[in-house]
Amino acid sequence: MSAVNVSDISTHSPTATANNLEADTSPRLQIIYRCKRCRRIVAAQKNVVIHDRGEGEKCFKWKKRSNSCGAGEEQPECSSIFVEPMKWMQPVQEGYVEEKLQCIGCKARLGYFNWAGMQCSCGAWVNPAFQLHKSRIDECGM
Ligand SMILES: [Zn+2]
Ligand SMILES: [Zn+2]
Repeated sequence: MSAVNVSDISTHSPTATANNLEADTSPRLQIIYRCKRCRRIVAAQKNVVIHDRGEGEKCFKWKKRSNSCGAGEEQPECSSIFVEPMKWMQPVQEGYVEEKLQCIGCKARLGYFNWAGMQCSCGAWVNPAFQLHKSRIDECGM
């Protein structure tokens, strides 16, 4: 009566047909981020914290100086990525609340972190924020 089928998990067996070949070859590269100067890997795609682009509200929260928020159509580009706290971030390990992030290899400044959060160039708040400037890192697939 109580025939619990352990092999239940394999009900939908993988359809390894020739038809699937095309789908398999779609580039599913793992993106990694390297220090532009010394090529040290500073983050991988799985470390990246995705945030919603802050549109609209940006005009209010942005510094008063920039009163050029007439064109609401243009979506601001994120000039940096946000990642999880990483091992190489020494000030994080040392317990700082906010500090600049330097490459552990060449000491190039890669970004900034703040446990209390920071605002991305797109206007979105990221909290906590471990920001790496895109201009300081290389994005490449592995
Ligand atoms: Zn952004
Ligand atoms: Zn470096």
